[in-house]
Amino acid sequence: MSPSRKIAHLDELVFDNRFLRELPADPEPLNTRRQVLSACYSRVQPVKTAKPHYVAHAQEVAELLNLSEQLPLSEDFTQVFSGNRLTPGMEPHATCYGGHQFGNWAGQLGDGRAIYLGDVINHRGERLTLQLKGAGPTPYSRNADGLAVLRSSVREFLCSEAMHHLGIPTTRAFSLLLTGDTVVRDMFYNGNPKPEPGAVVCRVAPSFTRFGHFQIFAARREIELLKQLVDYTIRTDFPHLGEPDRDTYIAWFKEVCLSTADLIVHWQRVGFVHGVMNTDNMSILGLTIDYGPYGWIDNYDPDWTPNTTDSDERRYRFGNQPQIAFWNLGQLGNAIYSLIEEVEPLQEALSSYRERFETSWQTMVAQKLGLIAYEQQTDDDLCLELFDLLKAIETDMSIFYRKLALISKNPNSEPENDINTLMEAYYLPEQLTAGYRSRLTRWLMNYRKRLQKDDLEDEQRRITMNAVNPKYVLRNYLAQQAIDKAGEGDFAMIHELLDLMRHPYDEQPGKEHFAVKRPDWARRRPGCSMLSCSS
Ligand code: AMP
Ligand code: MG
Repeated sequence: MSPSRKIAHLDELVFDNRFLRELPADPEPLNTRRQVLSACYSRVQPVKTAKPHYVAHAQEVAELLNLSEQLPLSEDFTQVFSGNRLTPGMEPHATCYGGHQFGNWAGQLGDGRAIYLGDVINHRGERLTLQLKGAGPTPYSRNADGLAVLRSSVREFLCSEAMHHLGIPTTRAFSLLLTGDTVVRDMFYNGNPKPEPGAVVCRVAPSFTRFGHFQIFAARREIELLKQLVDYTIRTDFPHLGEPDRDTYIAWFKEVCLSTADLIVHWQRVGFVHGVMNTDNMSILGLTIDYGPYGWIDNYDPDWTPNTTDSDERRYRFGNQPQIAFWNLGQLGNAIYSLIEEVEPLQEALSSYRERFETSWQTMVAQKLGLIAYEQQTDDDLCLELFDLLKAIETDMSIFYRKLALISKNPNSEPENDINTLMEAYYLPEQLTAGYRSRLTRWLMNYRKRLQKDDLEDEQRRITMNAVNPKYVLRNYLAQQAIDKAGEGDFAMIHELLDLMRHPYDEQPGKEHFAVKRPDWARRRPGCSMLSCSS
């Protein structure tokens, strides 16, 4: 097929299901919930949906798959991506993985509500795995139904694409469809189950492999299978490392450590809180994966987590994400130990996480502040005092950095004017006491002095700062408003937010109402400030 010709019918998609060909399958054909031993996956069929209905798709993902522009609007598209029709080459299956949940080994988890359709090889020769989330039960569904509701699917759909456009590695969201069926959910586990509209999201990524995929075989001492999966992963997703052997395993683990460090630096940069950083939700490619009870920092608070299930320990709070990623990598290191049988190289790779995190984090902070480079001698203090100031009173993180970009390095600038420039970032202006103002003024003077050391004009600095400090993020209350409207059958805001988040660093005149502080009504509203895992 010539690369310029777009795919006009889904049957033209070309699949290469290497994972199924090369790795052992569960021999049991029945879709019953159970422990699946000595296998990487089970074949399953998506459930048929009553009356699937198109809600949205991401045009950029359609382009990755080389689809014609009209194709996603066809009835056939809705039938295929709701799970009602398989195209030639699709081989639906669910994979086996385990994981540490909230720090404890949880045994077999697996794709309980995700069904892989197979790997498309696109017109550029890239491998893109398609997966339906919410298409029915699998042997890994444990005591749940394998389904997903509209609210959680809207959140996954919008945030996957928002993250991509923010420049953050992530699984992509291709389509969002209503199934036409209802799903019963007890949203806050408080004895109030209610029927909700069911939905299916089609996710796309080069690979959905998680740390937990390796952990399960190590935990079961299925070492040959562990080796097979590591070899497969290196050959398929890390071919630049060369043929798998002991050295390649070490190089591979180190690469996972580095890409994970880069990912977490991105999250900290934009104020994204994953919410459930269990090892089964950690991607081997360093992608953001599994959008559950995630949230965005409105006011800068390192202790904040959106996840009500974690509200006591706050293990997955914003400020703890770097440590948790390290802990999770340690668990992956443990899992592959038997292929290496030496602790030192694994520990070295883990140290590379810390080093990479430190240097990338410094570079990121310097960029957020508009500095040419991070100078430890001066900038450690500058940052520490800034973070203290930001959390001492309720300060909107995204607005603060955009406003900071407007402050002049001119030594004659009036500190009072600067504080006025920043004012929009404060939730409770009465918290700006005389004491706080004088501390902030001192910090602004130090910041100005620091800017003067760099050879960068104000306008140039503003442009570079705005390229890393998004004006628009998928604020929790915005996603919730889109969900509320979708529940009434109005999908316009989903499209509006999808479009808005295509250019998160641009001013986008006329869209400023999406960049304002969280309104007061959203402070304690479920969905806006707190979410549970139940979706
Ligand atoms: P999560 O918290 O979404 O990462 O999910 C943890 C585990 O629970 C994974 O094995 C999921 O597949 C499974 N799971 C979550 N929700 C459902 C559901 N509605 N039906 C079946 N399995 C689920
Ligand atoms: Mg998960």
